[in-house]
Amino acid sequence: MGKALIIGAGGVASVVVHKCCQNPDVFEEICIASRTLAKCDALKDKLDGGKTIIQTARLDADNTQEIIDLIESFKPDIVINVALPYQDLTIMDACLATGVDYLDTANYEPLDIPKFEYKWQWDYRERFEKAGITAILGSGFDPGVTGVFCAYAQKHYFDQIDYIDIVDANAGDHGYPFATNFNPEINIREITANGRYFEDGKWIETEPLSQKKVYDLPEIGPKDIYLLYHEELESLAINIKGVKRIRFWMTFSEKYLTHLRVLENVGMTSIEPIEFEGKMIAPLHFLTKVLPDPASLGPRTKGKTNIGCIIQGTKDGKPKTYYVYNVCDHQESYEEVGSQAISYTTGVGAMTGAMMVLKGIWKKPGVFNVEEFDPDPFMDALNKYGLPWHEDFAPVLLD
Ligand code: NDP
Repeated sequence: MGKALIIGAGGVASVVVHKCCQNPDVFEEICIASRTLAKCDALKDKLDGGKTIIQTARLDADNTQEIIDLIESFKPDIVINVALPYQDLTIMDACLATGVDYLDTANYEPLDIPKFEYKWQWDYRERFEKAGITAILGSGFDPGVTGVFCAYAQKHYFDQIDYIDIVDANAGDHGYPFATNFNPEINIREITANGRYFEDGKWIETEPLSQKKVYDLPEIGPKDIYLLYHEELESLAINIKGVKRIRFWMTFSEKYLTHLRVLENVGMTSIEPIEFEGKMIAPLHFLTKVLPDPASLGPRTKGKTNIGCIIQGTKDGKPKTYYVYNVCDHQESYEEVGSQAISYTTGVGAMTGAMMVLKGIWKKPGVFNVEEFDPDPFMDALNKYGLPWHEDFAPVLLD
């Protein structure tokens, strides 16, 4: 059916590549392009020989012209951006210059100010519309599947959604005292930022990790969950019309938070560059280099993730509650694709979103978040490609 250029060769990209190769009727040809060619070649060596034809290329995705040149030589139907959020705009610019559809899993971030805002990418709406091409933003798990879960709830179960609580639990244990499950820099920037949630048309800021509850999650058990800001809140607050409150919660163990507090207190999580031996370095960039590579956690991680949406509202004038979630097992993910569940849940979301575009189901000119499309074919594909979901119509609610 089509050709995909996959940019990045880290934990998430590896899952995207495996999943594209499991779906060769849609992904007939892929090109894996990243900064370190050896990582692209290692993926190709592992998966070559199936129906999907695989190429690799070295690419610096900070350089728009390099991306344009690669697009012009490979001629993809879609670019799947699973590099880092810093590359979103250069890649979108290259897609505009060449007239190719775009998809990513994380909003653009400037290197120096962690913002978690869609503003920069939403500014491309008119240009994508005029060019007649589609950009899908945030098609991982959260953002990604969580947005599709909300759209599915809205379409099938509610006339009006009032409250959404997104709960992201990771009960995986990798045996290290401290490591992050995906890119450490992005992960730590997210957690050390102020919390924020949407209520009655306003954004309410909270001190980092200051709101804590315990939630008993299916297949995982009771866990400490903390209120965080997460990027899908911004688009869902607009796209789920009339929603009164949306919050995002994530689990952290006491051990993880103790390490994080110490690193913060000594200044290691700062992105403000300091001079060291005549060179300017951001402490967080240095920290990223000494922490375990997320890709190396796969073989060590045991346990499950559970990510879902607890939704309250009304249907036919009556109050209604609904919980939709996926449980993903770290070891089963590793056995299937060689990555743990965090990369797995993100990579399946990215492949599925790209498949929606290639099949023409989620294809219209402009820049969109996933909840703006018909959720049903995406939800069907999740069941087929490794992220089966479950429903509960009487969940315990968060106050
Ligand atoms: P990794 O750090 O494992 O991989 C990032 C990859 O991007 C690496 O291969 C890296 O190259 C490559 N890269 C970085 N800079 C450039 C550049 N300038 N040009 C070309 N390639 C580059 O990250 P993950 O795989 O864990 O995460 C990938 C993305 O997925 C991130 O944007 C992350 O925020 C997002 N994510 C989204 C989630 C969701 O649910 N929506 C959840 C988890 C992650 P090199 O190998 O040389 O370092």
